[in-house]
Amino acid sequence: MIVIDGSVGEGGGQVLRTSLSLSMITGQPVTLHSIRAKRAKPGLMRQHLACVEAARAISDAEVEGAALSSRELVFRPRGIRSGSYRFEIGSAGSTTLVLQTVLPALLMTDGESDVTIVGGTHNPLAPPFEFLAHTFLPLVSQMGATIDLSLLRHGFFPAGGGSIHARIVPTRLVPITLDTIVPKRITRVVAFVANLPLAIAERELAQVRKELGVDKALCDVEATRSAPAPGNFVRIDVEVGDRTETFIGLGERSKNSERVARDLCDEVATFLGSPAPVDDHLADQLLLPLALAGSGSFLLGTPSDHATTNAAVIERFLPVSIRFEDAGNLVRCVIAANERSRSPSDGTG
Ligand code: AMP
Repeated sequence: MIVIDGSVGEGGGQVLRTSLSLSMITGQPVTLHSIRAKRAKPGLMRQHLACVEAARAISDAEVEGAALSSRELVFRPRGIRSGSYRFEIGSAGSTTLVLQTVLPALLMTDGESDVTIVGGTHNPLAPPFEFLAHTFLPLVSQMGATIDLSLLRHGFFPAGGGSIHARIVPTRLVPITLDTIVPKRITRVVAFVANLPLAIAERELAQVRKELGVDKALCDVEATRSAPAPGNFVRIDVEVGDRTETFIGLGERSKNSERVARDLCDEVATFLGSPAPVDDHLADQLLLPLALAGSGSFLLGTPSDHATTNAAVIERFLPVSIRFEDAGNLVRCVIAANERSRSPSDGTG
């Protein structure tokens, strides 16, 4: 039984999600205590409970402590099964985080899976749908996976009610490296409104053009009236060599359109101004697939607490070492198999 202290490092939901993913894949039972100890509302929130329930369903696990606000969980997987699954979060909790919990395990079964998840699709402090679709999953595809992801309905805080669908074909992940410094440029800006006036999106685009000098031809307004509740975001795609990094600024009731656009532009300007090919969010999320592939490396700026904490949790389950090495004005993250060990996709278990 592996024991994980949920208060270590960043002390948030990722410690739980990575532990669930790797418990399922390695077959090792796990006990988590002090879950999300460093969050304002510690313990399992509805979204985390949905991750536990989803993991239980696909691995036929025995679970103790799966209740709202619970700070301790015991998870004993009995075997991962491919299949057709539907997970309802029951709040605006992030569908993408639930998908990221079950995806690594479903990639290692022996059959295709269909997963539908109902909840939020564009949440603060979680990967927005487009980040998964355009930034994270293309890299997992480059590692050999076939994953078709679609957005069925937008879901925004606080109503939720959005849904995503993924078709996942099992594969053995192969390593990749992202350690070349390549040119970056903005290729697309989209301002999106659900059940809200188009003027909001137009003001956001005007502000992005003012802040970042983006050509009008790269900017679009998109709108839907079929979301269950109002919502708004601005999306900026940055081409990084032959890949895309997608950044999203979410509209909020208390924030005017110009401020939503300005905050996003600050984030994008920081990324454009750095030679690092991998941004902060992608960095912490890439660690798990690369560790499952057995090795890999990428260049980033300063590693976030999410990245260093996730690395430490992964090392508890898998025979890999994850190091953050000095690389001049950047940091190189290197994932390597420990000596005399094989990658989990070799069938170690
Ligand atoms: P936690 O705070 O531990 O629940 O983890 C949140 C996860 O969401 C981390 O993997 C973050 O990198 C990711 N995340 C948060 N905001 C964004 C964003 N704007 N774009 C992409 N990923 C994000």
